[in-house]
Amino acid sequence: MGKNSKNKMQDIKIGLEIHGYLNTEKKLFCNCDSIHSPTTIPNTSICPICTGQPGSKPMKPNKEAIEKFLQTSLMLNCKINPKFRFQRKHYNWPDLPKGYQDTISGAHSTNPAVEGKFENIKIIEAHLEEDPAAWNPETGCIDYNRSGLPLIEIVTYPEFKTSEEVATWLKNLILTLSYIKTIDKKLGLKVDVNISINQEFGGNRVEVKNLHSIEEIKKAIEFEIIRQEKQGTQKETRRYDSSKNQTTVMRAKENLEDYEFIPDPDLPTITLDKKQTEKIKSSLPESPQQKLKKLIKKHKINTYSANVLSKNLEIVEFFEHVAESIPPAFALDWITIELLRVLKYNKKELDQVEINVKHFIELLQAVKDKKLTELKAKQILNQFIPKSFSIKDTLKDVKTIDNKSQIETLAKQVIKENPKAVEDFKAGEQKSINFLIGQVMRLSERRADFKVAKNILEKLLK
Ligand code: ADP
Ligand code: MG
Ligand code: ZN
Repeated sequence: MGKNSKNKMQDIKIGLEIHGYLNTEKKLFCNCDSIHSPTTIPNTSICPICTGQPGSKPMKPNKEAIEKFLQTSLMLNCKINPKFRFQRKHYNWPDLPKGYQDTISGAHSTNPAVEGKFENIKIIEAHLEEDPAAWNPETGCIDYNRSGLPLIEIVTYPEFKTSEEVATWLKNLILTLSYIKTIDKKLGLKVDVNISINQEFGGNRVEVKNLHSIEEIKKAIEFEIIRQEKQGTQKETRRYDSSKNQTTVMRAKENLEDYEFIPDPDLPTITLDKKQTEKIKSSLPESPQQKLKKLIKKHKINTYSANVLSKNLEIVEFFEHVAESIPPAFALDWITIELLRVLKYNKKELDQVEINVKHFIELLQAVKDKKLTELKAKQILNQFIPKSFSIKDTLKDVKTIDNKSQIETLAKQVIKENPKAVEDFKAGEQKSINFLIGQVMRLSERRADFKVAKNILEKLLK
């Protein structure tokens, strides 16, 4: 391509369609449990309704699903329409035995949630729909555990300009959604990305379907921008192949009419009363930004640590709980440094282990009261995974030794056993003292008070 095309102003537009599983106890139109683990044995949570048996009829839409859908939409500042209806979206595919998917979108539908905004990006609409089953084209097997799970789809305006903007926005969206606990974290989000160059809104655009990670999304966008610069923007659906880092054509874009949307006669119109919506709105949990402000103002946490805490709801809630009994300034490092270190070492999240906040408080209190050395406490914290315990019983065996004569005896022994280090120290090798203190700590099973041990050694070596 010539120099000119490189310099030409590109009008890049990127819009997202984001799908997430609402974490309800039951499926959308039947009483089957929502199984949110991809490792569950296939077809163990199924019934005639969610397997689309002839003659089966859906139950009334799951109230919990509608409520969580509304919470999520309101968190994204959408306006809620008081009346909406499920439509049948027809297509033939092995994952959909009844021949249609129920969705509150499409040709004849009023979208339940519209005109939202999250950060600097406007949201066109959000709607609720059921998930089809999972079909494996290689084996021909179908797993219906997923069939009928409630999904939310969030559609943004094409207001993103770069892959970086998309990545940052999505990270913040995922964090915000984690705060309201309406979306199943384990299953993650599935995102379709629409990309065009030099097109009007609604004009030709390429839709890259089924992206599962932010990394994939970034790479697919970057690939598409370069490809469209060379080949132009067609109206088509593509898939991303991560092993080759490229997108390939799936199909020419289908039109809305192809789905033959009709209102589902088996499902009632859903009418919300205004009070109900207002109530959900006013009882929304704090957003990450609100939490951040609170940490800085109420607990006087520095901005950096407040950011670390608020990046994870479980951690920040744990901190707030601990801070009810332990001064926040004291608790801070124990959580943002020590607890995170132990979790990372074990490759676990806080909600995957059983750390009782009472046990954690006991541990910190003991350090604060100088009944435990920091070293000993860190060692105990390591043992809190996978399950914490009360340290009351162990405390008497591990109590800090701050008795000077007891430590002096240990220090003398260390000096006697380590003539080389002593010699080095006397010759001006300052670092050798750390080795000697380490030996005192070892002999005392990490119970000696660090500062006392240091003072005594320095005195003895003078
Ligand atoms: P469809 O059903 O055809 O996928 P939707 O309305 O569901 O259409 O989704 C449209 C998506 O395409 C939205 O995310 C929107 O932001 C995006 N979009 C619309 N126009 C453009 C454009 N010119 N370039 C890129 N994306 C666009
Ligand atoms: Mg779409
Ligand atoms: Zn079922």
